[in-house]
Amino acid sequence: MKKVILLLVDSLMPNILENCLRQRTVPALQFLVERGRYWSNCITSFPTMTASVDCSLLTGVYPDIHRVPGLVWYDPEGKEIVNYGNGWKCIKKLGMTNCAKNVLYNLNEKHLNKQVSTIFEELAMRGKTSASINTMVHRGVKKHRVQLPFLLDLTTRFRFREEISGPDVMTLGAMVQTDIQNIPKQLQGFKRLYGITDAYAVAATKSLIQFGNAPDFLLVYLPDNDHRIHKKSPDHAEESLIQVDKCIQQILNAFHSWDEALNQFVFIVTSDHGQTKIGKEEEFNIDLDVLLERFHSLQLGEDVNDHDIVVCNNERMAYIYPLKPNLEEKILQQLLSETRIDIVAIKENGGIRVKEGGSRREIYFKPNGQYVDIYGSSWEINGEWAVLDLRLHRGIVDYGDYPDALSRLYGAMYSQEIPMIVVTARPRYEFKNQFYPVHLNGGSHGSLHKYDSTIPLIITGTEHPVNEPPRLIDLKDFVIKLFEEEALSNDSLVLK
Ligand SMILES: [Zn+2]
Repeated sequence: MKKVILLLVDSLMPNILENCLRQRTVPALQFLVERGRYWSNCITSFPTMTASVDCSLLTGVYPDIHRVPGLVWYDPEGKEIVNYGNGWKCIKKLGMTNCAKNVLYNLNEKHLNKQVSTIFEELAMRGKTSASINTMVHRGVKKHRVQLPFLLDLTTRFRFREEISGPDVMTLGAMVQTDIQNIPKQLQGFKRLYGITDAYAVAATKSLIQFGNAPDFLLVYLPDNDHRIHKKSPDHAEESLIQVDKCIQQILNAFHSWDEALNQFVFIVTSDHGQTKIGKEEEFNIDLDVLLERFHSLQLGEDVNDHDIVVCNNERMAYIYPLKPNLEEKILQQLLSETRIDIVAIKENGGIRVKEGGSRREIYFKPNGQYVDIYGSSWEINGEWAVLDLRLHRGIVDYGDYPDALSRLYGAMYSQEIPMIVVTARPRYEFKNQFYPVHLNGGSHGSLHKYDSTIPLIITGTEHPVNEPPRLIDLKDFVIKLFEEEALSNDSLVLK
């Protein structure tokens, strides 16, 4: 009976993968593509930030259902900015305690909607075991003990009494107690990001395979590619992918042969988002503190009192929350005066009005109307379709530069019930706010644009049908069906 391993490579992009395949520089990925199926047009969730994307991968739904709006968002109940850790400056400002608590505990146990189930929970119900290797989102049926490394423990000034939930086997680098054997101690220190690295994830995965302890389903997160592309830009993504491939080679080498790996496992390789190259000069950072300076904006680390707005920066997208009535129109006018802004979206009568930065063009859409899109969702659409690059192809709504724009934008904007504005930056630009990281001459993501949104999908070792065109949210169901199909075929063997 085959097991399933899903390799989630941060910032893996189809064009980069294809260049590497053509040049034969990534033998492990080449092996998996040649022996399986490959799609270059898989679409991830929006905002294209790891935290909310991981929630979509694990639950199979967009943020309007799973309720985690992004990496950074405003919580009106706690009256605070929730930040799962975007850069050390943010963490310093918000405090290590706040960030550690949010990412280790609140994200999984409080923010992620309890009405939806994760893939780990569903597999457990079917008697299947799973592992989460270093994924930020990991809610499952088993409790795990947090063990903050000494330094972190000192800075956070609080000890985790709560246990966190996860699948049968779970690692978060060195931050969770694990029984996995032979993970070298030197992979777990402060300089190695406490083990939230490719090296640690590979060591843990190899150990599970070699000791025969691999559960039925393994989700393995490889983060290093993201850091390298942020720094050096997508122009250097091929060199980075060669490093990722070495990690995948190591995992395949844990078996007697690569063929043997495919006998034992179904391999799925995908990504959480792409990245867009950011220009070199200062002007490629859209400074939202300056653009919105006439409004009293809540800054990281401040308590809410007389503030007008909260700006939550998710790199190439931002949520802007008006805290007082009648401010929305004034904020909109200010945002629309900026031509470097791509789209500005607001909620309106159960739908969304989208305007283009620097122009007067706009489009309105709402679920359940006369138009059906290529994913089978139906919409009422009025206004200028060009704003979202929508086109009608044989009577079906198809997408151009903003893949699955209608469902994905709806997903983000209805992730919370309070008034909120979504802005995205045009390609080459990203948003800047005090304390948030910027990436001039590097790479960045977060937006609705295809550069940030299109991810590759490789499936090897099964012919089970895939919904096409594929989306990240379909993978949960795909994996569950794989195991159900096996269960069915086992039953029919017994009956014979
Ligand atoms: Zn990133």
